[in-house]
Amino acid sequence: MKRWQNLMERLMLPSIPEYAQKSFNESYLRADRVILVLMLLQWLTATLITSLAYDTYGYGFVAGGLITLTLFGAYRLFAGTKMMRVLAGIAMMLFSLVFIQQHLGRIEMHFHVFIALAILSLYKELAPLLAAAATTIIHHVLFNYLQLYEVSLFGMPVMIFNYGCGFDIVVLHAIFVLVETAVIGYIIRLQMEYAIELNRSEKKILGLNEVLSHSATHDTLTGLPNRDYLHAKLDWTLSHAKRYRQKFALLFLDLDHFKNINDTLGHDVGDALLIQVASRLQALIRENDIVARIGGDEFIIVITDLHGIQTLEAVMQKILEAFRQEWRVEVHSLRLSISIGSAIYPDDARNLGELMKFADIAMYRAKAQGRDQFCFFTTSLNAQIHHEMEIANTMHKAMEDREFVLHFQPKVALRSGVIIGGEALIRWNHPQRGVIYPGEFIRIAENTGFILILGAWVIDETVAALGRLAALGYEDIHISCNISMRQFRHKHLVVQIEEALKRYRVRPQTLAIEITESVMMEQMEVTLELLRRIKSSGVHVCMDDFGTGYSSLSYLRQLPIDSLKIDKSFVDDIKETGDNSRLLLNTILVMGRTLGLHVVAEGVEREAQRAYLEAMECDYYQGFLCSRAVAESEFTALLAANRSIS
Ligand code: C2E
Ligand code: MG
Ligand code: MG
Repeated sequence: MKRWQNLMERLMLPSIPEYAQKSFNESYLRADRVILVLMLLQWLTATLITSLAYDTYGYGFVAGGLITLTLFGAYRLFAGTKMMRVLAGIAMMLFSLVFIQQHLGRIEMHFHVFIALAILSLYKELAPLLAAAATTIIHHVLFNYLQLYEVSLFGMPVMIFNYGCGFDIVVLHAIFVLVETAVIGYIIRLQMEYAIELNRSEKKILGLNEVLSHSATHDTLTGLPNRDYLHAKLDWTLSHAKRYRQKFALLFLDLDHFKNINDTLGHDVGDALLIQVASRLQALIRENDIVARIGGDEFIIVITDLHGIQTLEAVMQKILEAFRQEWRVEVHSLRLSISIGSAIYPDDARNLGELMKFADIAMYRAKAQGRDQFCFFTTSLNAQIHHEMEIANTMHKAMEDREFVLHFQPKVALRSGVIIGGEALIRWNHPQRGVIYPGEFIRIAENTGFILILGAWVIDETVAALGRLAALGYEDIHISCNISMRQFRHKHLVVQIEEALKRYRVRPQTLAIEITESVMMEQMEVTLELLRRIKSSGVHVCMDDFGTGYSSLSYLRQLPIDSLKIDKSFVDDIKETGDNSRLLLNTILVMGRTLGLHVVAEGVEREAQRAYLEAMECDYYQGFLCSRAVAESEFTALLAANRSIS
């Protein structure tokens, strides 16, 4: 049974799989046309020429023309269909009949049958072949009948030439035709298998191509479009927006402090989080908009067909809120936020390069303003960025040209009025612009990393000043210098301080460093370790701008610090009347005293403030009331005057 099935299977032609159907359909159509051309040729060559040569053969030309033109007509109706193929098979065979009538002889006719069958293999299908075989067998039987019984129509014999062949010849002919059909059927089978195989390989290659082109245009981690794809898509978006006078927005997104997650929880958690970020972003935008990942934690969203700034604002707000929701990765529950900058075509820029740059600038502004927010690009923002870039670019040169100087603001003991030291504050003596204050360049230096060079110089210069003061006899004077975030985290800070102290032979106890509350509060573990090392070298530590951060009492107790510097805003609260506004200040003063820390008030401008602070037993103050920050020579003059009074 099984063998029988196998045999049948081998005899049957293969069925055409779905993916090859299209190419088969195309080849059917092509073969239809080839057959039509061949029919036309054989009509013109075999029947036209003979009919010209022998005037009795005109009817062959007419009959051949009838068959050929009928097939042309059929083509108009059935091109590419099975019906057309069957008709083509019949037509080819009817031509053999025309040949016989033209007295071309039986042998020629047999040749024609065989060649016609072979030609029909073009179709890679059995139907036309079978139709042809059937036609030729049937018309032989019919011929024989007509000849044998001399059938006549309208008094004329239907067969003009009588070969008088017997049925034995008909049977023999049928056997020939069947064998020929079997041979050509086999050829058709081979052709079909070959064509199917070809299609299979093509399909495989196409599939591979698709995979390849997907991975070339998509990010492997998140599956989002990558930079290349984004650029291609943006080109299209731009020309579309231009043509239909539409607006679109480009959003630049950057995760806040993503590096911390990678550093503390590992890259696997970071990667898993990025995948979630990608899908959360994708869920937030419309189908026609684009989200692409263009860097580690950087994404771009394109909002097409933008109708108003409110829509854009709503989208960005939605993104921020979605990010504030909890993130769960493995066992971790994480908090995450994102900063977004946006630029709009054509309002902000008309080319993609600028649009990207402006959205990036706006994103940086969102970061600088405290992260977890969005920021629109504006022209004033652009001017500001240019200004900042200019500052960033000229700072190195300014350092070489010794344009930076330290000024010193006296620190006064409230009760006695004695200047016990000062704070070193940096100034930039710009050759064109005059004095530039640190508020304008410290943050930029921090962003570019130049702060490490600048900060090292400040430490060195402060300690050198301490050395000079000691040489003048002011050995007990304290000077503090400000340490920025990046500098504080830098591994060489302690070594830098110790080396400077050694070089200028300065007692560590006379140097203090000021670190702002917010810097200290970040990564408490690291802060504690660093502060302990600085303290062990004998240098004093002061918490600057106290009250502006969020340090809790329990943290404050753990920190190895010597003094608190109350932020100016609390001192400003000391008004002539009303106690309410002083509540915070009073609390801070009590807190400092309870923790055994010295308390310094900064920004004291009026006598009333000074008097109040003295009454509240604050230890020291700084402020314009005593003096602004002044050059070193003026500072020593102030010291000298102060000493001579007290
Ligand atoms: P800060 O450390 O809190 O310094 C106090 C700021 O308040 C100084 O501004 C000082 O001139 C100003 N000030 C002092 N008394 C008064 C007053 O009575 N009224 C008013 N309105 N202001 C007063 P300055 O020098 O412009 O410095 C600003 C900030 O720049 C500093 O704040 C500090 O954070 C940073 N900075 C200054 N020098 C350096 C430095 O060498 N390195 C680092 N990393 N940062 C520095
Ligand atoms: Mg300070
Ligand atoms: Mg301060």
